[in-house]
Amino acid sequence: MENNKTFTMIKPDAVRNGHIGGILDQILKGGFKISAMKYTYLTPEKAGEFYEVHKERPFYKDLVGFMSSGPIVAAILEKDNAVADFRTLIGATDPSKAEVGTIRQLFAESIEANAVHGSDSDENAAIEGSFFFSAFEKF
Ligand code: UDP
Repeated sequence: MENNKTFTMIKPDAVRNGHIGGILDQILKGGFKISAMKYTYLTPEKAGEFYEVHKERPFYKDLVGFMSSGPIVAAILEKDNAVADFRTLIGATDPSKAEVGTIRQLFAESIEANAVHGSDSDENAAIEGSFFFSAFEKF
């Protein structure tokens, strides 16, 4: 499987707080190219489907509510070693534990409202990209 693509969302907290530009700037400075991008919204049903893997976790219901609380930016990003390098760029899930200079350390509010999503494997990057983008929207 190709390892040069990952999928990201700028989450509702970061959109609300005016951080779209700042986050895209960090992504581009990090050496990623934007292959596809849209400003969109997850219904509660769609958010539940996207995070289905976490449905037994205690935070699932709140997470679905948060992820459908406002608009998001969804994007497919391209770079060698994209999945791992993007997870380094965004930092730990909990922003209080994220390294200085990472996107979550700079822009996140909390462990739930943590500014950005980043795929955790090449397989999930492909699945998540296809969740938002049809074949003719992906470059
Ligand atoms: N999350 C949460 N509470 C937790 C752990 C995770 O609300 O205790 C949320 C958070 O928004 C996180 C998402 O669930 O980004 C998915 O969790 P995961 O463990 O996959 O973290 P990630 O891969 O996003 O760092």
